Amino acid sequence: MRVAVLGAGTMGHGIAQVTAMAGHDVVVRDIEMEYVENGLESIDDNLGGGIERDKVTREEADAALERLSGTTDLEEAVADADLVVEAVPEDLDLKKSTMADVEELVDDETVIATNTSSLSITEIASAAENDGRVIGLHFFNPVHIMGLVEIVVAEQTDDETLAFAHEYIEDIDKTPVEVTDSPGFASSRLGVALGVEAMRMVEEGVADPRDIDTAMELGYNHPMGPIELGDVVGLDVRLDIIEYLREELGERFKPPQVLKRKVRAGKLGKKSGEGFYVWENGEIVGTSGEWGDD
Ligand code: NAD
Repeated sequence: MRVAVLGAGTMGHGIAQVTAMAGHDVVVRDIEMEYVENGLESIDDNLGGGIERDKVTREEADAALERLSGTTDLEEAVADADLVVEAVPEDLDLKKSTMADVEELVDDETVIATNTSSLSITEIASAAENDGRVIGLHFFNPVHIMGLVEIVVAEQTDDETLAFAHEYIEDIDKTPVEVTDSPGFASSRLGVALGVEAMRMVEEGVADPRDIDTAMELGYNHPMGPIELGDVVGLDVRLDIIEYLREELGERFKPPQVLKRKVRAGKLGKKSGEGFYVWENGEIVGTSGEWGDD
């Protein structure tokens, strides 16, 4: 199969990598050659790491790199593609114009997938004439490590497109879950609900952040507790998603005051050095403020 990946950033390069590893020819397209090259270099690095950890052989890595190419020319990327996966920035207008531009250049049978993490697939699909071919494929970061892909079915998605998506996801060795297009899909909606409740519990003094996280890590086998996960994702990013889910799904997603205070204070989590935890060199070194233990 020939696959075009639009966007060579965090997600695009990962999607290109796993698709090439599964034996498909992949063209990556970004707006500047420098971004394309950075994406291809990241793939090279990831595969190098895979060889060191004995996950990938040198032959497999070389064969995958052979199947990959990059361009800034949209037509060159998508002409003859059986599948186009867009991983351009999270902006509805950009996603819609990309959809319309791609459709002008591809065959009638080409499936067009969007990797949006929060926008309505149904709305993005509305930019296409032949909208039954549009579907959401929600990959997780880092793509070459994470096993899950949410297949998000838009109002318009037809059965052939859905069957094609299942085949592709299984072929690249990921596990699909099928979700109807709705705010937060399955993963973000549930993950965020847990995070919101955990923050409310901190606010109510039920337990401090470390104890809540430990409860979920050891009691429920989550690799990382919901409060720490918020710090890792970025509390500003979390707040945006919560506000969006509140708008769409109602007051159960009302953002906790403690989260708003943190964001207003610039305490955004790991990336700013402090959120619910205090971070140094990417590691937790203490708990923030009133829960502080240092
Ligand atoms: P990113 O900023 O790392 O990469 C986006 C890339 O798209 C950039 O290299 C940019 O130059 C390029 N680009 C901009 N306009 C373009 C165009 N018209 N055509 C081709 N490329 C273009 O962003 P990302 O984190 O990879 O996110 C991409 C998409 O994936 C977003 O919709 C995001 O919501 C979604 N997503 C992100 C994550 C994550 O954890 N980062 C997880 C799941 C889904």
